[in-house]
Amino acid sequence: VIETGTPAKSTLTTCAYCGVGCSFRAETQGDKVVRMVPAKSGKANDGHSCVKGRFAWGYVTAKDRITKPMIRAKITDPWREVSWDEAFNYAASEFKRLQATYGRDSIGGITSSRCTNEETFLMQKLIRAGFGNNNVDTCARVCHSPTGYGLKTTFGTSAGTQDFRSVEKADVVLLIGANPTDAHPVFGSRLKKRLRAGARLIVADPRRIDLVRTPHIEAAYHLPLKPGTNVALLNALAHVIVTEGLAKEDYVRERCEWQDFEIWARFVAQDINSPEASEKMTGVPASDVREAARLYATGGNGAIYYGLGVTEHSQGSTTVMAMANLAMATGNIGRDGAGVNPLRGQNNVQGSCDMGSFPHEFSGYRHVSDDATREMFEHLWGVELSAEPGLRIPNMLDEAVGGRFKGLYIQGEDIAQSDPNTKHVTNGLRNMECVIIQDLFLNETAKYAHVFFPGSSFLEKDGTFTNAERRISRVRKVTPSLSGLTDGDITIRFAKALGYEMTYDHPSQIMDEIAALTPTFAGVSYARLDELGSVQWPCNEAAPEGTPIMHIDRFVRGKGKFMVTEYIPTDEKTGPRFPLLLTTGRILSQYNVGVQTSRSHNNVWHSEDRLEIHPFDAEERGIRDGDLVALQSRSGDVSLRALITERVQPGVVYTTFHHAKSGVNVITTDYSDWATNCPEYKVTAVQVQRTNRY
Ligand code: SF4
Repeated sequence: VIETGTPAKSTLTTCAYCGVGCSFRAETQGDKVVRMVPAKSGKANDGHSCVKGRFAWGYVTAKDRITKPMIRAKITDPWREVSWDEAFNYAASEFKRLQATYGRDSIGGITSSRCTNEETFLMQKLIRAGFGNNNVDTCARVCHSPTGYGLKTTFGTSAGTQDFRSVEKADVVLLIGANPTDAHPVFGSRLKKRLRAGARLIVADPRRIDLVRTPHIEAAYHLPLKPGTNVALLNALAHVIVTEGLAKEDYVRERCEWQDFEIWARFVAQDINSPEASEKMTGVPASDVREAARLYATGGNGAIYYGLGVTEHSQGSTTVMAMANLAMATGNIGRDGAGVNPLRGQNNVQGSCDMGSFPHEFSGYRHVSDDATREMFEHLWGVELSAEPGLRIPNMLDEAVGGRFKGLYIQGEDIAQSDPNTKHVTNGLRNMECVIIQDLFLNETAKYAHVFFPGSSFLEKDGTFTNAERRISRVRKVTPSLSGLTDGDITIRFAKALGYEMTYDHPSQIMDEIAALTPTFAGVSYARLDELGSVQWPCNEAAPEGTPIMHIDRFVRGKGKFMVTEYIPTDEKTGPRFPLLLTTGRILSQYNVGVQTSRSHNNVWHSEDRLEIHPFDAEERGIRDGDLVALQSRSGDVSLRALITERVQPGVVYTTFHHAKSGVNVITTDYSDWATNCPEYKVTAVQVQRTNRY
């Protein structure tokens, strides 16, 4: 896998896969990368790495990578290679036509969490200033938007509270809806080290993930809840803490809104939230819930880590707030070893949110309706900006199906494969008159596109990524861009063709603009990053070295806010036709929908998605291990091979979503988080039957 030889050059950069954000040295001979070596200086990884960052970079030079711009008038026409100028002029004339015909709000764009902070900032600037609307959204819509909503409401900022190193001081770890040994492996190793040293672990997950029992580690409690019942479980933990007098009232009085606490405490103390009542909803034994709650509240530093098993639910935002309530009630916030921390999926999903990718917020999470903020941007950008929040991705698609939304510029996002209810997505795309895709490959979404801008990989650009612990790290150009332009260059040239000029000599100047407009980034510059190696925001006059732990003396919003978190069951119900619940996750060697990892050597470890099914459910259906099975839901059906295992409980099936062939999002539902529209990927009622049809 690794070519040997003395590298002519070694360039320090950052992994472009998960939200751990490991530092690597890219070793090159000429313009060819020969290997990626984890960097000891990397504060997120301390010289460690996983099989994705280390080995899965071959996609950059994959044979099917597109390096020439292409256009076509209709999606049934063949693609035609054109010059960059022709592509920009065609795309710009189409977008201008659409706005002239259908109105200013008929077009929009989606930023990419695979691109740098600087490129994302440019993209939302183009949309707000160039398109003249706020129709910008990000893939965080389908993953961690509830984190943004929930943590901002309770603590005042849309980000995790701790640095990764903080886990080394945790005494009790409550891990909810996350599987770090597969999805965030380098953080997973750090966590394992702490657990081997004696920290106690509570796992709340429908599936028996590795950390429940692995050599030298055994979780104190595994709470195998029924998919979709996170809030009922968390309310039951809170019930025990409040009714047994385990809440740290002195802390709450000093640091939080006391009246809100009292309302919340009365709510969770109700019988409906008792562990016994919760058992009927979650399936988790009440005695385990009681003991887990006591351990979290009294076991020393309590740290919560969570993943998409929390956010991708119809009550995703409620679940995030329920975790924040627990941390505040027990005083587990604002110090080393405690906190509430999302394990972010993509390398720069934190950054893409920070940079103003949401339709209602400028960079730094400031609402577009705030006059003072808007005037600051207007002054620097030389345009009048809309004070109206724009459309979210699902709303863009709804409007497209309704014939009112006509043009979409998508940077590095494959919504036809990664978003829920594929039929609705493709119907929306089909109804648009100009879809622009900027990507490395002709992905599924490109089937509905009229313009293809060939994008650039992380090895071909300068910029920064921000990981799940708010750490801003440099991405450095290792090889020239195969298409001749970086993603940032493309956005700038497209903006110019539309008549909106953005002029920068180097991405460092974009960061300077971000710093000038974003208080939490005020102290960030490339010179500062070179000096410190990396820095965690907020980085400004008050915190020139950055902020590893947030909310130490006060919450960002002032006092912490408790929120009443009533459990409302999902509308996705099992029944005679669809008696099982499907939930999904990742595997170590693959990444998301597999665009990159499937074009790398990692395929030798995992070349197809399998359906995990409990022996009872398999036997009932006459399914043997390895059989091809049809997985049917109310939205559609797919086929994949069965893997019979007790990792899943009876009544629950599980699969990964890395390979286009299985296309699991075809069968997910339309339900989404009430606050953010984040899709409910993690709960789908299904039936499983043997089949012989792929
Ligand atoms: Fe890359 Fe994440 Fe693996 Fe680190 S843990 S090497 S960031 S995929």
